[in-house]
Amino acid sequence: MSKTLIAGNWKMHLTAEQSRGLAERVEKTAVKYSKAVDVVVCPTHVCLPAVAAVTKKLSVGAQNIYFADEGAFTGEVSANQVKEFVRYVIVGHSERRHVFGELNEMVARKAAACLRHNLTPIICVGEIGYERDHGETVQVLNDQIATGLTMLTAAEIEQIVIAYEPVWAIGTGENAKPEDVAAAARTINQAIQEMFGAAAASKCRILYGGSVTAATAASYLALEEISGLLVGGASLNEHEFNDIVEQASHDK
Ligand code: PEP
Repeated sequence: MSKTLIAGNWKMHLTAEQSRGLAERVEKTAVKYSKAVDVVVCPTHVCLPAVAAVTKKLSVGAQNIYFADEGAFTGEVSANQVKEFVRYVIVGHSERRHVFGELNEMVARKAAACLRHNLTPIICVGEIGYERDHGETVQVLNDQIATGLTMLTAAEIEQIVIAYEPVWAIGTGENAKPEDVAAAARTINQAIQEMFGAAAASKCRILYGGSVTAATAASYLALEEISGLLVGGASLNEHEFNDIVEQASHDK
């Protein structure tokens, strides 16, 4: 059994100094529960060196990368450049997809770039509210998985993480029902099985993300289908985030 994974997405918040301070405070919790929980924090790109310098048990992730390794791509950052500081990269976050127009094809290329550099992509998938209301969740997830994972091999699938993040639940305070999260995770697992086989699918960790707080974490951590959480807003509060990590340490 792989460890429970708790990842914090700090989004476009905190200066380098603030990020380092928060990372130092979360590091203590990551050390305390390191046998049971992999803890990851994802600061903005400019804060990665400061955070990487003060973390040992706590892993660092980037929030995004571009899929080329280098070149004339003004403003972009490559997997090759962040790999000195991180083990994980969030790929295809809903804010990338819906604010910056990132398509499934780009997600696929970014995931492949991560693996080329031995980084673990946390690939985000999930439906918008309209799709949920029109019964399209399964189709959306199948499309995002089929295209998003198309450049990977079965061996690589064992190294990736998928985060089910219904877009309507992100930053809204609206929680997905645990039974719906379990059903979505089964859909994702089934789609991966069909592409890469049951053995690979069984090793691919699936997280839930969407307005998770210390008060709601346990209901998702209890699900057999879920191997951890991707936490946005609540990860900026060390007490809240550390509480979630502690709950994950006595998961299932
Ligand atoms: C996220 O940023 O991935 C996220 C789930 O945000 P929040 O927890 O704030 O909804």
